[in-house]
Amino acid sequence: MTKIIFFQAHPDDLEHKCGHLMHYLATKSKKNHIIKIASLTRGEFGLPGPKYDKFKGDLLAKIRTRELFNAEKIHGILPENIDFFGYIDGFVPFNKDFVNRVAEYLKKERPDIIIAPEAIYTWYYHMDHINTGRVLFYIIHKKLINFTPILYFYTCLHPNFFFGFKKKDIKSLTYKLITCHRTQQWLLRYTMLPYRPFSRFAGRTLHGWKYAEPYRRVYFNKKYVYKNKPPLIVRIFTHFFSNLPWTKAKYPQEMLLKLKEN
Ligand SMILES: [Zn+2]
Repeated sequence: MTKIIFFQAHPDDLEHKCGHLMHYLATKSKKNHIIKIASLTRGEFGLPGPKYDKFKGDLLAKIRTRELFNAEKIHGILPENIDFFGYIDGFVPFNKDFVNRVAEYLKKERPDIIIAPEAIYTWYYHMDHINTGRVLFYIIHKKLINFTPILYFYTCLHPNFFFGFKKKDIKSLTYKLITCHRTQQWLLRYTMLPYRPFSRFAGRTLHGWKYAEPYRRVYFNKKYVYKNKPPLIVRIFTHFFSNLPWTKAKYPQEMLLKLKEN
């Protein structure tokens, strides 16, 4: 039996990045997999502008947790298989405490495979995502756990693994998943626009599939680490994407200041 943990920074991160792979592993694969989700935050600041400030915090966290549970029900993943780390949306750190907490979690869970947001070469440079990927890479690379799970990154610019799906699956699965996150439609409406062309591009080389989800397998074995190095163009793009203003999350200034003080 294989245990797979999908890591995400926010409750809606996985749906149009890993939805098809998750659905296959959870419902169609003949082998019995254990699928878990580890959510670093509950996305409690995920609404635009100050006019929504009154909903941000505990109330939004509660609603988004429910939205996540509803979406995962589609894959048959039960709430008891969804773990929350309790970090504050926008403040997922990269520090000793975070490293230790995730390392302890991995020691307890012992996953065979980890799927997480890309830490370096990504088009989605939100620090919560970056730090989630970084901490997992760091723990395995520094051998802070006594086993080596296979690590895949999503939202990557340099994919080396593709999971194929059909055009009809976009309607029958992706949209259903996305619709569960009702508070996030203001953002998902836009992020879904490039979804079809990007997935079509990712699926161009797969036989029998038109669309695909791209992933990057990270290599830790010395013999293969050279495969981790992307071409120059990817490094240039990484620099470009890391400076885009829309990838910087916007939080209510007052709350930000208060949180920074604590
Ligand atoms: Zn996110």
